[in-house]
Amino acid sequence: MINVPLEDNLKKYFGFDSFREGQKEIIEDVLKGEDVIGILPTGTGKSLCYQYPAAVMDGTVLIVSPLISLMVDQVKQLKQQGFKRVAAINSFLDRSQKKKVYDHLESYQLIYCSPEMLQNEIFIHELKQRVTISLFVVDEAHCISQWGHEFRTDYLKLHEAITALDNPTLLALSATAPFHVQEDISQQLGRPHMKKRIYPMDRENIAFTIEHVANMDEKLNRIQSVLTTHPVPTMIYFSSRQWSEKAAFTLSQALPHLRIAYYHGGMEQMDRLLIQQQFMNDQLDVICCTSAFGMGVNKSNIRLVIHAHLPSQVESFLQEIGRAGRDGEQSVSLTFYAPGDSEIPKTFIRSELPEDRTVFQVIQSLHRMALHESEIMPSDVEMEGKLEISEVQWRFLRFQLEKHGMIQENRIVVNEEKMKHSYDSII
Ligand code: ADP
Ligand code: MG
Repeated sequence: MINVPLEDNLKKYFGFDSFREGQKEIIEDVLKGEDVIGILPTGTGKSLCYQYPAAVMDGTVLIVSPLISLMVDQVKQLKQQGFKRVAAINSFLDRSQKKKVYDHLESYQLIYCSPEMLQNEIFIHELKQRVTISLFVVDEAHCISQWGHEFRTDYLKLHEAITALDNPTLLALSATAPFHVQEDISQQLGRPHMKKRIYPMDRENIAFTIEHVANMDEKLNRIQSVLTTHPVPTMIYFSSRQWSEKAAFTLSQALPHLRIAYYHGGMEQMDRLLIQQQFMNDQLDVICCTSAFGMGVNKSNIRLVIHAHLPSQVESFLQEIGRAGRDGEQSVSLTFYAPGDSEIPKTFIRSELPEDRTVFQVIQSLHRMALHESEIMPSDVEMEGKLEISEVQWRFLRFQLEKHGMIQENRIVVNEEKMKHSYDSII
């Protein structure tokens, strides 16, 4: 199909000089039409494994992605790289936005969609009629196994879409899939013999340590003494904006020879950019930050990543640790744990879920609208009930509705009996 070295197109389309570990092997397999499960650490560049084929193959690459924010980021990044024919479609788009995607369906090189969209008969029909899917990608494929059985039952129906789309080549990508999950992924996708390309998470140059301490004061004392002996640059992660500021202040006073700053999402854009640039240019030694810092920060010589608090997602934790030692030099990840710390991420997770009252209001407004006639769309819910619900909340809500038998074949089925039943059991 292509007779130039893969590296030439890598430079031409993506501007990179070389492949990262695993990318080339996976891309070669995919271009040969082999079905692959690719397990590569977070931040390696899994996206390239399907973006590259999209750039050089005829037809369209369809990517199933679990999070709308991920899709939006990817589309934005691709557009910046010069890929114009890219779209994301999910049930959060309103009708006119969806129409726009449908209008140009055959012209896209890459289409990102949610697993829920693949249950939409119109979408499947349009794809089947107008698009040749050259590669079917499941990004964050562990969702098929870990989440599929719980919140996202649509992940378990992907194989139906794959069959409906004339069985394109499959690529399942994940950073975190142990053996049994890999097996589950390939079973669920209906291809028991997918080739496995597995590249270990293990970063040999990062020493990983957890220290148990009594409380926050002790954490700051320990951080202070670690900073006096350990080489910089250092990143210190906190769970809140206040803590990042407070710690930066305390540590600067105690260690005047170090250049210490804080960074969090509540700062002015210009300040954030300035701090980020200073850190990148080695004009800062230590940065006290929240998880807001790091996206897109690719600094190679970070020697120490400290977690004063745990982030709410294991994925973020791995990603944050992984910022240490990108240059391959010896580096350290140090996590402080005090009794009760696991409550912080739990609180974050809980705060993402809707309150009972919200669930009931939404069900009520769905009922009023007799939505059983149409596809479920959160945008409809918002219109009617003036409710702002996040993606996670919507997912939870769907889960609730499904549990009460109120979703059948992707339609909400509401009757008085069920309404009362769900109200009683939810509240
Ligand atoms: P993952 O999905 O594995 O976490 P991404 O696909 O989001 O990672 O890529 C992470 C970053 O690595 C991106 O900024 C991407 O542009 C960059 N990247 C990917 N492949 C390469 C490469 N071969 N050379 C340099 N940078 C790369
Ligand atoms: Mg990714």
